[in-house]
Amino acid sequence: MSESSKKTGTVFLVGAGPGDPDLFTVKGTRLLEQCDVVVCDNLVPDELIATLPAETERLYVGKKANRHSLPQDQINALLVKLASDGKTVVRLKGGDPFVFGRGGEEAQYLREHGIPFEIVPGVTSGVAAPAYAGIPCTDRRKASLITFVTGHRAATEDSPEVPWEWLGKTRSGTLVLYMGVAEIESIVNKLLDSGMAPDTPAAAIERGTLPSQRVISAQLSELPTKVTECKIRPPALFVIGETVTLQETLHWFEDKPLFGKRVLVTRPADQAQSLYQSLRNLGAEVLPFPTIATKPTLNEAAWKALRNITADKRWLVFTSENGVRYFLNQWLDQVGDVRGLAAYSIAAVGAGTARALKERSLTADFIPTKATTAAFAKQMSKQLELSDTTIVRVRGNLADMTVEDTLSRTGAEVVPIETYETYPVVWTDEIKKKLSASPPDVVLFTSGSTVNALASNLTEEERQKLFAKATVVSIGPSTSEVIRSHGIPVTLEAGPHTIPDMISELVAYVQS
Ligand code: SAH
Repeated sequence: MSESSKKTGTVFLVGAGPGDPDLFTVKGTRLLEQCDVVVCDNLVPDELIATLPAETERLYVGKKANRHSLPQDQINALLVKLASDGKTVVRLKGGDPFVFGRGGEEAQYLREHGIPFEIVPGVTSGVAAPAYAGIPCTDRRKASLITFVTGHRAATEDSPEVPWEWLGKTRSGTLVLYMGVAEIESIVNKLLDSGMAPDTPAAAIERGTLPSQRVISAQLSELPTKVTECKIRPPALFVIGETVTLQETLHWFEDKPLFGKRVLVTRPADQAQSLYQSLRNLGAEVLPFPTIATKPTLNEAAWKALRNITADKRWLVFTSENGVRYFLNQWLDQVGDVRGLAAYSIAAVGAGTARALKERSLTADFIPTKATTAAFAKQMSKQLELSDTTIVRVRGNLADMTVEDTLSRTGAEVVPIETYETYPVVWTDEIKKKLSASPPDVVLFTSGSTVNALASNLTEEERQKLFAKATVVSIGPSTSEVIRSHGIPVTLEAGPHTIPDMISELVAYVQS
């Protein structure tokens, strides 16, 4: 490689898929982890951007909320500039970059300017939205060809005309119409005028693959009226052809137990990925707006005390996943590798805490039957012989001293070690607006601190509005107490106090 070409970055034109973040490709995921900058369009799933490494630069060039879109020539120039500065660029586009995505124009411009590029296909909405609606694009009994067509008036005068007359004569095929909402009436008229049967089955799919997906069907001649009646809005596409009738038997996405439910999750985003995933798998729309976050705190004096422990009998007490995570990270820095942990027995409160230990190849020796910290300290004092024992109590800044006080009464020496701090996240106006425009159907609370932080984010009136329709799910009694202290009724409280139990109780409640 010559010196100059070494300096030029590559532009990856990457398809972001149709909307469901799980339909993003493995190759795209790898590139997002490695690139310097992401240039994204509208219709790119928020979660792909939210989970980027913090240092990755993100530039929005598509129309979204109140931002204006950048004209195509400026986008082209921006890509050349970024790559010329030596950056690895991911140009993220909805669906597939080469299907009505202007990917070809961008790639051509890059070639003309000597910028290396690669194309990473994405799942196009024209295939994915019908799939999520239960409409096969082809079926050997009903359709042996698919046509992808744009309903958008030609962008420039020299764009080729769509041959509607010819399309109206096609039989035994499926027509998938992108960008057609505004023009649907005139398009349907052209198809009918060219001889397409008025009773040809047709469907509109709005926000396909997203939990807010809507599918309506009608015979072709009725389609425009139904689209107006049901207020179908972009992004939406139309499917016209005999396979649409299969939707009646093949629908599946809307049947998911939490389909369409908007679920507000307030726990810290770095601990909520698997919760987001489980909710999405059940068909819910996740509103990922944490009210608290955590960061490590280093208490040098406590670590010094820990290094000086001489007792033969030692316990390590964990009461949260965060405790496990932050303590073990600091242990490696402060003490060394994991072998030193062998001197300790381990106690853990709560299934999540035990699981966090398991993930790090550690098994708790003592787990209380009741997953509250107060019950835990009592049980541990009663069931174990703790005199002559040194107990390292791993904690965050918010916990009270119940565990320390109770365990000290056994004659044990208790060394508290604060390894993390929980701090409130202030919601932006954009988040508040989003939530007030369309309040959540469900709010999940996994700790009292998330509730307190949510309350401090909202005025009394905003709080009333947010919870007006919401099913409030609490992980357990202490969280419920905090929820009620803010005047918010608790609808469901998880029996076993775990996140999977919260979800399964929510599902049972919704289905009852
Ligand atoms: N490159 C994209 C298409 C961009 S054109 C792709 O391959 O999917 C934008 C049009 O795509 C929208 O007007 C709409 O017709 C369609 N579209 C994109 N996402 C969609 C979705 N989730 N559901 C329905 N239609 C969608």
